[in-house]
Amino acid sequence: MTKKEALTALASLAGGAALAQSGAARLLWKRGRRRPAAVTLAAGGVADALFLYSFLVPNFPLGGRVFYRGKLDGNSVALTFDDGPRPPFTGQVLDVLKQEGVRATFFVLGENALRYPEAVKRMEAEGHRVASHGMDHDILMWARPWQARLQLAVASQALAAAGVKDPAPLFRAPHGWLSPAAHRAATGAGYRVVGWTKGVWDTAAPGTDKIVSRTTEVLRPGSILLLHDGWRGFQEEDRSQTVAALPGIISLARRRGLDFVTVEEMMHEAGPR
Ligand SMILES: [Zn+2]
Repeated sequence: MTKKEALTALASLAGGAALAQSGAARLLWKRGRRRPAAVTLAAGGVADALFLYSFLVPNFPLGGRVFYRGKLDGNSVALTFDDGPRPPFTGQVLDVLKQEGVRATFFVLGENALRYPEAVKRMEAEGHRVASHGMDHDILMWARPWQARLQLAVASQALAAAGVKDPAPLFRAPHGWLSPAAHRAATGAGYRVVGWTKGVWDTAAPGTDKIVSRTTEVLRPGSILLLHDGWRGFQEEDRSQTVAALPGIISLARRRGLDFVTVEEMMHEAGPR
């Protein structure tokens, strides 16, 4: 399912529910039952808003637990990169991380890993963690359990075929949208679902300085920063601003006394929850 299809389904369901609620409220009102009419309208509105929110907000826990930040009183932050690997940007990201001695967590797409196996092998060889972002960025907002299991299983096989020896048992859903059933399927398959504390919209290419300045709010203890080194599909995209912003982001974090850890290390520090 594409992003557009998922959002259309969401809008029509929420719209249909809103219509039904307002119809019921109108009927009650006509019969002189004004209080029940008002309650129906208000409760329906709240339910609708909650429904939309639960699907659209990546870390909303209605569908199941999502790890989106670590300990607030520590000094760890985690860099995460989604949608890769893609040349030349993934290699350039890895060069900067190596130079700075920083380890990160890469939520790669299975199809990209198959296309560029050298890149995922390099991630592992240089101490980074390779985690799953699914096979082809299929949106799992409405996914049945089997669809989620299939995405994860195929992606896992792709990582193995690309030469990844020790993949992290972490899954980040495309756009962070995950149906409760898909969430259960992912955890049932042994994955922990990971979100992010804040994204900086680096895919919109707002300018290198802007990407760095947006991270100033994000770089606090326990934050998981979301960046992108790749994309899905066949159209070429540009991630050079993300690459160029990295040294600035890293030095900003260091000036604040923060250490870069992997998402799993952050989970370990945070303890069971
Ligand atoms: Zn993505």
